[in-house]
Amino acid sequence: MEENKYEGLNLPNYNIPEDIQNVVSVTTLDRLYNWGRRWSVWPLMFGLACCAIEMIAAQAARYDMARFGMEVMRPTPRQADMMLVSGTVTKKMLPALIRLYNQMPEPKYVVAMGACASSGGPFKEGYNVVAGIDKFLPVDVYIPGCPPTPQALIAGLIKLQEKIDKQSIKKVRWYQKGKADANYVPMPILGPDLIDVRRNAEYKEAAARKEGVA
Ligand code: SF4
Repeated sequence: MEENKYEGLNLPNYNIPEDIQNVVSVTTLDRLYNWGRRWSVWPLMFGLACCAIEMIAAQAARYDMARFGMEVMRPTPRQADMMLVSGTVTKKMLPALIRLYNQMPEPKYVVAMGACASSGGPFKEGYNVVAGIDKFLPVDVYIPGCPPTPQALIAGLIKLQEKIDKQSIKKVRWYQKGKADANYVPMPILGPDLIDVRRNAEYKEAAARKEGVA
């Protein structure tokens, strides 16, 4: 039997005769929209340390990420749908990461590959390492491991596809009036430590408490 090219697109309750399954589809606008996006999630590669080697392996012939429509690694944020952060994020690197994230057009997703990107990993207490990119960026999928195998990365990408499947055009933030920039991340200030400007009030309160003013 010929493979059904529209698997996942058709509404489950409609039985389309086998001989026309590849030319006729009964679906909704949401399903059509999500189906198109889930098979063309182009990653913005962000290989920062050892995890990147596994990310590269996932691209090569043995694991072949192209099967999921994700083979086109983009060197520019303008053409990317998903930021794939694999490796240790240092405090010095974070502003570059955020700048690129802000330059990505919606819809955009973030995948944290490995212990370092998810939580700082073995360097969590390091003076120069960010203890997880979710301190600054909205992470959609975390992939555990040090490093995660290529299979684990692909499993994570399938999770992202499942997440996309559940989105509705009416509710996604990028079509909401006034919320198009809702995911804009202000640039942190890099000093002796990273300062997240969204937490200014919290910092001021802590400083006042320390000085015994509050
Ligand atoms: S999670 Fe482990 S393998 Fe991945 S970058 Fe960190 S130390 Fe390297």
